[in-house]
Amino acid sequence: RAKENGRNQVQYYSRDFHEKIESRINLERDLKNAIQNNELVLYYQPQINTNDHSLAGVEALIRWNHPQLGLVPPDQFISIAEECDLINSIGRWVLDSACEQFSTWVRSYPDMDIVFSIAVNISAKQLRDKGLVEYLQQCIDNYNIPASRLEIELTESSLESSLVALDMLNALSASGIKLALDDFGTGYSSLSHLDDFPFDILKIDKKFIMSIEREEQAKLLKAVTNFAHSMDYETVAEGVETELQLEICKKLGINRLQGFYFSKPIPANEIEKAWF
Ligand code: C2E
Ligand code: MG
Ligand code: MG
Ligand code: MG
Repeated sequence: RAKENGRNQVQYYSRDFHEKIESRINLERDLKNAIQNNELVLYYQPQINTNDHSLAGVEALIRWNHPQLGLVPPDQFISIAEECDLINSIGRWVLDSACEQFSTWVRSYPDMDIVFSIAVNISAKQLRDKGLVEYLQQCIDNYNIPASRLEIELTESSLESSLVALDMLNALSASGIKLALDDFGTGYSSLSHLDDFPFDILKIDKKFIMSIEREEQAKLLKAVTNFAHSMDYETVAEGVETELQLEICKKLGINRLQGFYFSKPIPANEIEKAWF
């Protein structure tokens, strides 16, 4: 009987594995058509100025509205896009769409000063896209966006990869676009090396914020924040979910706050309703 069970289990796992491969193949196939089919959508999450709780900006976060699977989060398809060479086209779609949305907001809400910024994530693989700087410049020109209102986020872990072209980052920085180091504190880049890159903003990873109740974690957050400010980086706290976390971040002088305490990522029209 045990033997039979064992055999069933093997069959079960192998079918499971087969299904996984099949679904991966299907995802890949579907993703290739996602742009043309208008299935990609940007959600936006507010960033709040710590001092007066005004809107500092929004971060664009991609979702894939799959006809059968529903809203697929980026963690489930960005790596596929990277592996099957779709990341450049998807990445360009994201940049164009975010800039277009920003310019629409600026036109539709003339009373609102352009005091907020728009942050867009890029994958390290996009730094292989030789035309990226020019493309971004075109977006800014076409939509008439002040370069300093656009922030490009790159994760700290991507700095370890040889893909990161310092030339390209320097060119982006020279054009006036702001560069943010995302998930700061989770990679293994050395602090002495950080100064070689033209980052303006450090986004302190939510890992530091979430475990803030633990004394050692609070000390760690303090050390990271002090480091960032002494190096003249602007700071953003990710993953702020509670009042206590908010208070601690405020005390530490973290410049901007982002997290579910204020809002989840939401569609553009909901941003307007809730924040403009
Ligand atoms: P990220 O850039 O670090 O974005 C923050 C993520 O944390 C978002 O997940 C957001 O929904 C989530 N988050 C925000 N506040 C809280 C909070 O208070 N608590 C918790 N638990 N989570 C919070 P999301 O939207 O699923 O995005 C995941 C990652 O996917 C992003 O992390 C980013 O690295 C990547 N990503 C998203 N959009 C794009 C894109 O357009 N291009 C590329 N290359 N990557 C993207
Ligand atoms: Mg980000
Ligand atoms: Mg992050
Ligand atoms: Mg992240």
